[in-house]
Amino acid sequence: MEKLFESMYQLIVETSTKLPKDVRRAIAKAKLSESAGTRAAMSLATITENITMADENVSPICQDTGLPTFKIKTPVGVNQLEIKEAIYTAIAQATKDGKLRPNSVDSLTGANSGDNLGVGTPVIKFEQWEKDYIDARLILKGGGCENKNIQYSLPCELEGLGRAGRDLDGIRKCVMHSVYQAQGQGCSAGVIGVGIGGDRTSGYELAKEQLFRSLDDENAIPELKELEEYVMENANKLGIGTMGFGGETTLLGCKVGVANRIPASFFVSVAYNCWAYRRLGVKINAESGDLMEWMYQEGEMIDFSKELAEQEEVAATSDSREIVLEAPITEEKIRSLKVGDVVRINGRMFTGRDAIHKYLSDNDSPVDLDGQIIYHCGPVMLKDAEGNWEVKAAGPTTSIREEPYQGDIMKRFGIRAVMGKGGMGAKTLKALGEHGGVYLNAIGGAAQYYADCIKGVDGVDLMEFGIPEAMWHLRVEGFTAVVTMDSHGNSLHADVEKSSLEKLAQFKDRVFS
Ligand code: SF4
Repeated sequence: MEKLFESMYQLIVETSTKLPKDVRRAIAKAKLSESAGTRAAMSLATITENITMADENVSPICQDTGLPTFKIKTPVGVNQLEIKEAIYTAIAQATKDGKLRPNSVDSLTGANSGDNLGVGTPVIKFEQWEKDYIDARLILKGGGCENKNIQYSLPCELEGLGRAGRDLDGIRKCVMHSVYQAQGQGCSAGVIGVGIGGDRTSGYELAKEQLFRSLDDENAIPELKELEEYVMENANKLGIGTMGFGGETTLLGCKVGVANRIPASFFVSVAYNCWAYRRLGVKINAESGDLMEWMYQEGEMIDFSKELAEQEEVAATSDSREIVLEAPITEEKIRSLKVGDVVRINGRMFTGRDAIHKYLSDNDSPVDLDGQIIYHCGPVMLKDAEGNWEVKAAGPTTSIREEPYQGDIMKRFGIRAVMGKGGMGAKTLKALGEHGGVYLNAIGGAAQYYADCIKGVDGVDLMEFGIPEAMWHLRVEGFTAVVTMDSHGNSLHADVEKSSLEKLAQFKDRVFS
């Protein structure tokens, strides 16, 4: 049991902190395709720096642990209850050690269990097989990309593409549309797992199952191999790019699986995974519980630390304006900012995500927010030996969830900047113009990079919402983000969405007969 616990603990820590080799190679390829000085190149440079920092610090690549999902194959006769117990203990320990964020929340009360255990969490799926060892795989898929999963019921009408029928060409249209609808909100460049067939539940399971495949494998079914290649070639022509900033690489991988369906239903389910594609696997001795071998180890291991000097050169050649922001920020200063400007933030910022936004819409703020910056972030926090809070991971969360509240809260409390990822909608854009505010896009998933910019935690309010949802008072230095929505009515997100829809329409005509 002890050995089994150790093997599961290693699997969890390695999955959370070390990006697999095939994903690194796909990111390296994406980097080569972007021109120096572009926003996409800058984002990818931050991403690769973040991957290196996670390696070195053995810390989470992204702060969002997601819903840990295990797929376990066991020889006949192995006690699955013992395996479950070992996973539960290992998950709780990894959470305590700051390798996972406490991410399991009671759906009715909102209470965070604090150890990633709870009804339905983690997900563990067992299967029996004839081999004599245990095959244990884990995927950590965060909420930003999970929320961009989509399921199509054929036939259907698709924006930009028209009718998608019950055939391979209809499936092709759905897959292309799934990439378009995700925009940058799932922390593109992403990987999609596609499930053709099944019912609403098994279709999504099949889609997620594809994410356990290697990015380098070839589909054994010729039609699906062709579909995967088609999507990889053409989805990257949509111009959505890294973080939805525009660019050459929108997709790092496309894997398609098929299952039978019933005559009345025809589902195409898509599981969208962000660039922080954390999935690994181990072979475990079924008798001793010892870890025998790591999976996904084929091919070259890219060491991004060697590229750091080159990255500095990319930053130096960037043609964006770079502006220092320090709260409290005046309306005049905020109105001088334009979409595309790069800002470096020093000084104070406050975190605030779903629970805080809901709270502020009904209550007074526990702190003076006039001229301040709100960061949409649910950090991984640990107390050090002296009892002081330490930030272990602190990337941005998806901002659009705060759309119903954001504009009103900014006006009511005098907030000048909100920062997150993926952009916000028309209501917030209008409020930015009326009030004098900006939306800043930080690089999604760059949890280590941003944690390093946080030089101190000066306080915390509303801890009753749990660590990710509390309002943390952070002191930062050189915290970099891009203005993607300004007070002059400009939104990079709206522009990229519009241009990518026009490009999507080029793929309207039948390709597969
Ligand atoms: S990289 Fe983005 S989508 Fe992925 S887990 Fe992190 S915040 Fe969520």
